[in-house]
Amino acid sequence: MSKFIFSEAGAKELDQNDALSAYRDRFSMPDFTDHACIYFTGNSLGLKPKVVDNYIKQELNDWSKYGVEGHFHAKNPWFSYHEILTEQAARIVGAKNKEVVITHSLTTNLHLLMVSFYRPTKGRYKILCEAKAFPSDQYALESQVKFHGYAPDDAIIEVAPRDGEHLIRHEDILDAIEANKADLALVMIGGVNYYSGQLFDMESITRAGHEAGALVGFDLAHAAGNVILKLHEWQVDFAAWCSYKYLNSGPGGVSGMFVHEKHANSPKLPRFAGWWGYDKSTRFQMEPGFVPMEGAEGWQLSNAPVISMAAHKASLDIFDEVGMEKLRAKSDDLTAYLEFCIEKVSNENANCNFEIITPKNLAERGAQLSILCHGKGKELFDYLSDNGVVADWREPNVIRVAPVPLYNSFEDVYQFAKLLEQAAR
Ligand SMILES: *Cc1c(COP(=O)(O)O)cnc(C)c1O
Repeated sequence: MSKFIFSEAGAKELDQNDALSAYRDRFSMPDFTDHACIYFTGNSLGLKPKVVDNYIKQELNDWSKYGVEGHFHAKNPWFSYHEILTEQAARIVGAKNKEVVITHSLTTNLHLLMVSFYRPTKGRYKILCEAKAFPSDQYALESQVKFHGYAPDDAIIEVAPRDGEHLIRHEDILDAIEANKADLALVMIGGVNYYSGQLFDMESITRAGHEAGALVGFDLAHAAGNVILKLHEWQVDFAAWCSYKYLNSGPGGVSGMFVHEKHANSPKLPRFAGWWGYDKSTRFQMEPGFVPMEGAEGWQLSNAPVISMAAHKASLDIFDEVGMEKLRAKSDDLTAYLEFCIEKVSNENANCNFEIITPKNLAERGAQLSILCHGKGKELFDYLSDNGVVADWREPNVIRVAPVPLYNSFEDVYQFAKLLEQAAR
């Protein structure tokens, strides 16, 4: 027996018992359709915390008032603005403060990190990743490999689901690492796969990678702010994430970078350098010869994009107030309720069979469910869109939905499932 009931009253009761339900009001819910919006694309662009306006206004006012002097005299001096984000971001990814810096954009950071951590030699030059990685990651890996003079076909090993399956088996990743250990330089995987919503066991992948003599990094675009991360404890070498998906910090928002302290304290590691990575106590002497900051900050190139960081700060303050543990507990419930409702609708409709390809096991997924709609095509998705659902469609027939625990309700989930039921008829 499920603990859930498929009814509006049942959903409302779940909302009443939800300690985080009040947070929904702290976000701007889009209202561009004729129908009440059911926003399930926080995995693509998180909603705007209403307070973002105030945080950005503060910086605009200080810019008006101080001009360049805002670098030192703004309420939150721009010279060190990124520093006010570090501790909160580090908590979200399970890192020490000096292992984290908020800077640049995600793909940029992946490249910068690979400059330091993908240093192929004739004997050890391969990169292992998951098949169907996010396109930007595929291009980043391919171009890094070519940059070093290797052929992507030979140097990139993709671990794919087995024939007829949708998910990558964990043992297949570990086996592929073991099988390639003679020439493996790097394991680089998306912590949560953007397509299937599969959450990988990053701790054991890291261990296996290290045992094979490789370094291990993760793209956490779909993991940061979604699932519990312990990058330091897991001994992950490096990671990067964006702030605009589950972290709700606005389109093109600033990215985060993690470098484990075992590397962060080695200023000799090769890297592409810029002035903001230079030791800040002597940065403005502007001497030739790069002297990096200790820790992840030493990977910064440029001065802080303060406007974008102000939006990030607004969001991080909310995350800090709630805490990842509570957020994840609600997320588990909300996603489980969505799963329950979809299965219910699927079982009761002969015309359509909804197959959830995301893992059932809570330890292997976050907020997202990817639904294969057997027997239906785009018209089903269009029906949902016409009725206020904002979700993501992937040809030929996959809908990706992410009920986000900070601002989605159990009632959102119920209403979505009702629309799915109508569309399936
Ligand atoms: C969203 C996403 C990106 C986007 O990269 P940007 O540089 O921020 O445009 C990259 N990788 C993954 C895995 C993503 O999910």
